[in-house]
Amino acid sequence: MMARRPDRNEELAHLVQGEQTDEVRAFEDRIAARALSDLEARFGVLTRRSITAWTVAFGSPQAEASNPGALRRILAVIRAAIRRLLGPLAPRTEQALSDALLEAVRLGARQHAAFLDEATGRSRRPVSTRPSQRLRERVSAISDAVADRRDRALAMLRPNLVRRWSDAQAGIGVARSATTAVRTHITTVVGEAVNEATQAAIDYTGAKKVWIAERDACVNCAAYAGLVVAADAKFPAGLSWDPSQRGRGKAPDAPPLHPNCRCRVTAWDESWAQQGVISMPEALRREARRSIARGWSLPTESGAARIRAARELLRVGAGLPKSVEEVARLAVAAGRFQDRTVPTGP
Ligand SMILES: [Zn+2]
Repeated sequence: MMARRPDRNEELAHLVQGEQTDEVRAFEDRIAARALSDLEARFGVLTRRSITAWTVAFGSPQAEASNPGALRRILAVIRAAIRRLLGPLAPRTEQALSDALLEAVRLGARQHAAFLDEATGRSRRPVSTRPSQRLRERVSAISDAVADRRDRALAMLRPNLVRRWSDAQAGIGVARSATTAVRTHITTVVGEAVNEATQAAIDYTGAKKVWIAERDACVNCAAYAGLVVAADAKFPAGLSWDPSQRGRGKAPDAPPLHPNCRCRVTAWDESWAQQGVISMPEALRREARRSIARGWSLPTESGAARIRAARELLRVGAGLPKSVEEVARLAVAAGRFQDRTVPTGP
């Protein structure tokens, strides 16, 4: 097969999906480092210390708690440690995010200006925006999520519910999952900030908006990839390549569609399309169909959902090279994709 040179429309998509998304991710990491501080390490220390205490008191980590007094003391120490570790987490996250919000919006505006430069060949300054009231209020939503993990953990760590070390470990695990909730919250709020700035910039240019999905997007986001709507319109509600996930949720103005979604919108105007080559939205739609056919996805996504999506793609007609459709056909027949990792590199 002849090697095809990437056209400008594909390069535009890859600018947003690659470089710009990586920059947003690095930005999230800086906020998370401040919010989480050394919390992961301290949960590790708590786990090790309490397993040692359990072994000293009852003989081994597998042994049942045979002495109620010793069990009460061990659990009291764990519960106090969880309160101490999680107490400052939500305030620290809110502070780190509040401090970063203006920069997040500016990052979105700057990235969108860079995209327009590439798309139109005309240099322009970023549209200046400030974080909306709605966005500033979203920051504090983390305190309920952390309190929920803490309360569930404390409820699990009662002497009448803990018989073995594994029961105590499960409680510590629930408390520790607050760190994951914090990371997800940061990703979501930063994603909303970036897309808010982008939407303001799109309004300003008078162009339409197009959905740019991640290369390993879920079956729902993949159904939005390359969709173009008016700047002030919503995208349709409940799209999915997986028929059993269709019809859920509200019509979104923009991504993020779900927690940890790093999809983006950018401006799109038909007049920017080059003659004779596939347009950027069409390139995005084709790429999304390819990723459904190949099963490219995160390990956290359901394998069954990816298979249902691939079957649906084949049913409606994938419009992809035979070799790619064959991968989908084999996976559907086998009931699983052999490898779901997105290939890296050009
Ligand atoms: Zn997404």
